[in-house]
Order: sequence, then structure tokens, then C-alpha cells
Amino acid sequence: MNYDVKGNINQIKSSLHNGVKLVAISKFHPAEYIMEAYEEGQRLFGESRCQELLEKYPILPSDIQWHFIGHLQSKKVKQIVPFISMIQSVDSVKLLEEINNRAKMANRKIKVLLEIHVAEEESKSGFSIEELDEYLDSGDWKRLDNIEFCGLMTMATFTDNEDIIRKDFSTALNYFNKIKEQYFSSFPGFKEKSWGMSGDYKIAMEYGATMVRIGTTIFGPRTY
Ligand SMILES: *Cc1c(COP(=O)(O)O)cnc(C)c1O
Repeated sequence: MNYDVKGNINQIKSSLHNGVKLVAISKFHPAEYIMEAYEEGQRLFGESRCQELLEKYPILPSDIQWHFIGHLQSKKVKQIVPFISMIQSVDSVKLLEEINNRAKMANRKIKVLLEIHVAEEESKSGFSIEELDEYLDSGDWKRLDNIEFCGLMTMATFTDNEDIIRKDFSTALNYFNKIKEQYFSSFPGFKEKSWGMSGDYKIAMEYGATMVRIGTTIFGPRTY
């Protein structure tokens, strides 16, 4: 291992604003890297691929909280529902319905974040603000008894231009505040703003981030 995972974790933690949670993004890194972070007290980890998560989950300590952060196909939901702690990357109504159905069968209530698309790249996933407005306004989500809506997740445009990154996080924060007031004011659990990665988490915290998702700065570059 070339990376000082323990040192990196501590350095990042000391730079987080009060109350901001660190999700260590361990995708493409082996279980031994995860254990380095675990030994330093880290319990919250994020993975983006089902198969990889299903391989890691059984061989790692059971008190790890796993967050799913990648594009999730509906047909794979049933495999992670028994143990997943939060699904951060809910990007369609179809997926939400499937999570609810599978959670019901597993007798669980699953925490989710709705992923919104604010970046300039078309390739990024997530609900557009228009789509999500329409869905929330329909009220259909209120009958999803096995879903716990915990907030929003987003990714900023991948760019060196800080103005664009600020614009993206500002859009996300304003939208969070709007829907919190309009739909979720009586849901105390709807409070998470998951934005910020290795390159932009310090900016994200200026725009209200409550969770930052950091991979490269902890574990080093990924080899795909
Ligand atoms: C990979 C990934 C991250 C972590 O990115 P780093 O730049 O390595 O910190 C965060 N969020 C999502 C959704 C990701 O897919």
C-alpha cells in the first residue's frame, strides 16, 4: 500500500466543519485498504457497483455502514436491500418504487437520498429539477412506506473553474431549502446534503454539505 490511509483520514477529518460526515469512497480499492480506514475509526463507506459491494460486504466487519453511490439498476436492488445503510443515488421513480417493494419484503425501511442533476455535463445522472418538482408535487412518494427520505445528493461539474462548481452547489442548496420547506418540513430526518468529493469538498461545505464523499484523497488514485 503506497498510501497513508490513516494519515489521510485524520487530515480530512480535521478539515471538516462541525457535524459534517465523511463517507469514505472505497470503490475499486481492496478490502485491506478499507481495513486501514476502519482501524482509524471510519465506519461509513461508499461503493458504486453492486458486484463489488457484494464481494466486500461479507468479508468486512459487520458494523460498517455501507452507502450505495453509483447508478443502480432496478434488477439489482434486491441484492443490496438486506444490508445497505443508505442509497444515495436514487435517480428515477422506477428505482424508488423498486427499493420500496424490496424493502417491504425484507421488512426494512431504507434511507435514501434523491440524486439531482445540476452539473453542466449531460453524462451525469440524477433527476433534473423539473422532473423532481413534478414527482414531489404529485404526492406519489407519500405512499412509499418503506422508504425514508433523508435528503439530496449531487455532483458538481468536473472542472477547474471554481465559479461553475460554486454555481452547482448553490443550485443544489437552494433546491434543498425549497423542497425542505415545501414538502419535508415535518420530516426531521430529511436533512442530508451529500455534496463534495476529493477535489471540491471544501467548497461544498460552504454550501451546506452535511456529508462529503471522498475517495482519491484517502486511498489514492483508482485503477479501473
Ligand atoms: C467516485 C465517487 C466519489 C469520490 O470521488 P473522489 O474524487 O475519488 O473523491 C464521490 N461521489 C461519487 C458519486 C462517486 O462516484
